[in-house]
Amino acid sequence: MCQWDMINHLAGCLFMSIAEQVLQLQHQIRDKAQGRVVTLVAVSKGQGPAALRAAYEAGVRDFGESYVQEALPKLTALHSLPIRWHFIGPIQSNKTTVIARHFSWVHSVERDRIARRLSDSRLEAGLAPLQVCLQVNLSQEPSKSGVAPQALEELAQCVALLPGLHLRGLMTLPEPSSCVELQRQRFARLRQEQERLLRLGYDLDTLSMGMSGDYIAALAEGSTIVRIGTAIFGERNNT
Ligand SMILES: *Cc1c(COP(=O)(O)O)cnc(C)c1O
Repeated sequence: MCQWDMINHLAGCLFMSIAEQVLQLQHQIRDKAQGRVVTLVAVSKGQGPAALRAAYEAGVRDFGESYVQEALPKLTALHSLPIRWHFIGPIQSNKTTVIARHFSWVHSVERDRIARRLSDSRLEAGLAPLQVCLQVNLSQEPSKSGVAPQALEELAQCVALLPGLHLRGLMTLPEPSSCVELQRQRFARLRQEQERLLRLGYDLDTLSMGMSGDYIAALAEGSTIVRIGTAIFGERNNT
């Protein structure tokens, strides 16, 4: 084989395996979702447009990115495809305009000031409301991202009133653990927070929880969106 044939062959194998992973995951998700409609968000941070295209061709329509600078070239490269882009990373206040213009969903809202900026930018751009989840910090460590459960209701109250945002639900990013019982316990906590807000009259239909290492536990606890990177694309080397 000449060098280019070899490279094409390797790329072909790589993208074939992305398609296989997507099909297997979709099967697993259907199997564990207990009849719910669950969205698979392919977390594509650290991946190039060709890998995303392979996942798209296997049926993925939702992609998650954590860094604005890294995401924009991919959004441009794939702009002709009907993809829903989900922003799942920490939000810096100088990035709210770009996020509001280019993404359909934001999973990582944790402060009212950021929520207001996203809403304003969305309205200025003349776009339909941005779909948002509030990121909840269930670990009680102040260093972790997310709103503390004690402050969740106040944030929900603020976000629900913003005309540029549609409050859809809650997201959490737990500490990795290989213990399934511990994984389920944390996801159950997020579901309990959702139930509390539902009782208070908030209309929340989304639980964004579950990644490559714990999505089975998340599905068992009621997840409606799983955010999966490694199990689709393999290990990331640069992020
Ligand atoms: C990276 C990331 C994921 C995906 O993690 P994997 O373990 O690769 O599946 C999901 N959610 C968030 C917020 C992330 O930053």
